[in-house]
Amino acid sequence: MRSSRHPAAVGALAAVVLVLATGTAPASAVRTVDKVPVAVGTGGAVATVDPEATAAGLEVLRRGGNAVDAAVAAAATLGVTEPFSAGIGGGGFFVYHDGASGTVHTIDGRETAPQRMTSESFTEGGKAIPTTEAITSGLSAGVPGTPATWATALDRWGTLDLRQALHPAIAVARRGFVVDQTFVSQTQDNAARFGLFTSTADLFLPDGAPPEVGSVFRNRDLADTYRLLAKEGVDALYTGPLAQEIVDTVQRPPVVPGSTANVRAGLMELGDLASYTAPLREPTHVSYRGLDVYGMAPPSSGGSTVGEALNILETVDLSVLDDTQATHRYLESSALAFADRNRYVGDPDAVEVPLEELLSDGFAAERACLVDPDAALTKPVAPGAPDGSYGGCGASATGGAEGTEGTSTTHLTTADQWGNVVAYTLTIESTGGNGIVVPGRGFLLNNELTDFTFVPSQGDAPDPNLPGPGKRPRSSMSPTIVLQDGEPLLALGSPGGSTIITTVLQVLVGRLDRGMTLLEAVAAPRATQRNTAAVQAEPGFPRPALEALGHTFTTTAEIGAVAGIELLDDGTFMAVAEPARRGGGSAGVVDEG
Ligand code: GLU
Repeated sequence: MRSSRHPAAVGALAAVVLVLATGTAPASAVRTVDKVPVAVGTGGAVATVDPEATAAGLEVLRRGGNAVDAAVAAAATLGVTEPFSAGIGGGGFFVYHDGASGTVHTIDGRETAPQRMTSESFTEGGKAIPTTEAITSGLSAGVPGTPATWATALDRWGTLDLRQALHPAIAVARRGFVVDQTFVSQTQDNAARFGLFTSTADLFLPDGAPPEVGSVFRNRDLADTYRLLAKEGVDALYTGPLAQEIVDTVQRPPVVPGSTANVRAGLMELGDLASYTAPLREPTHVSYRGLDVYGMAPPSSGGSTVGEALNILETVDLSVLDDTQATHRYLESSALAFADRNRYVGDPDAVEVPLEELLSDGFAAERACLVDPDAALTKPVAPGAPDGSYGGCGASATGGAEGTEGTSTTHLTTADQWGNVVAYTLTIESTGGNGIVVPGRGFLLNNELTDFTFVPSQGDAPDPNLPGPGKRPRSSMSPTIVLQDGEPLLALGSPGGSTIITTVLQVLVGRLDRGMTLLEAVAAPRATQRNTAAVQAEPGFPRPALEALGHTFTTTAEIGAVAGIELLDDGTFMAVAEPARRGGGSAGVVDEG
């Protein structure tokens, strides 16, 4: 039987429910879909950042599809309505709890570097090339993993085929959706670089400017591309006609005539696409206060870093500490875990990642021993030594500096009546990816390869995240599923580059240790400490008592955008999306009755 440690006060939730209309559609065929941050009911649930995507997932569930089918349908719809965060030009990580067997599986849909890439591909004269030039380039585009992820998920665990799963997204792409402020702002923020490419300007800057709030945005090119995949399977992209078009776009970006921008060409070739695979990987697992927490293994650092931080936190009983001490512990555990991820985590097919040791209680005890209840550690902290020999207090290695990552991406969570649950985070890296639409195909390419460190960042120690042929850049994506007594309790994830890890950690601590409901934990002001001198915090985050302990802060408007689902004591689902961040997300259940 499903149960939760802190039964949600469902009645109290009504007070914080916001219903945000997305605007008025001038075209009658376009539906106006409400944004709802929390929904409680039976039959299954979906939480995403977008009402069309949530509606697509729910439609699939209502027709008898399972959580995997719903996740693919919702993800494909996000490719339409959130084209700057996700789509078939990118990659992601899919974590799945199989209700029938009670096991957790993951798909690594991370983009790969071309075979021609070397550890020096992002350097010039021994120095890193300017980040802005890398961001908007063919060079930063990795081989997309999202189509292979969808195909693998459906083949293994779905009940629909790709054609059926793409159906709702094709409908939205054809009839259009109502443009909201977030879509407009993201277009505005990227207008200069979108304007550099004929294909991107044609699609996203109609009449030379971003579309208006409340207007209807259609993407018939993408509808046709999805149809091609529906008909021919994802081979159409990896070995078929799309492969050549992607290679052409990467090698010769369609820069507008007369532009003097330095747009670097990419290294991708047909063979890189043809040899792409989205492998199944063992999930990470830690036991946390009697619960089982599953996450994404390398090349994501999500599972190992959330897991290590939880292991450090578990050495004290957070539920009896005051808010300041509990938050202090959260910040310190995160800084320590980030030092270790920066030093040790990369693509496991290219570097040796000491995953088991990073997630061991012995290593966590050694790291936890460094935490001083009365004073913040000086950051950056050095990484520890996950060498299997523990007992001291944080034996230190060298390195540990933080890398750089983007701030876009999207996360969705689905659950069905058969105990299947999906936590799926997908991305094209920067908001707007590399800024280049494949001409006539309706989707942006990723710039995921900017998640590599461009030059060695770990001092005398080796950097696990330098570029290399066929290598997958380290990610922070942290799709997470928590089981209690073998049954799903909670599933969640977030966008936000390396802040994904701290967002997931903070929500888990809020929900599992601090007596918050999932909605309260999601809505609470966030702070992120990734082994940097100052903590980044949202404006509402309480600081003075933490400053007294030595933490310093900078302010950032918003951190992350969580979508999660909890299975409540009475067997109902509670879907939760952001009440306010990124314009609010969209939660839904099959039957609210
Ligand atoms: N590319 C990032 C990663 O894989 C995610 C980007 C983001 O969330 O903004 O960790």
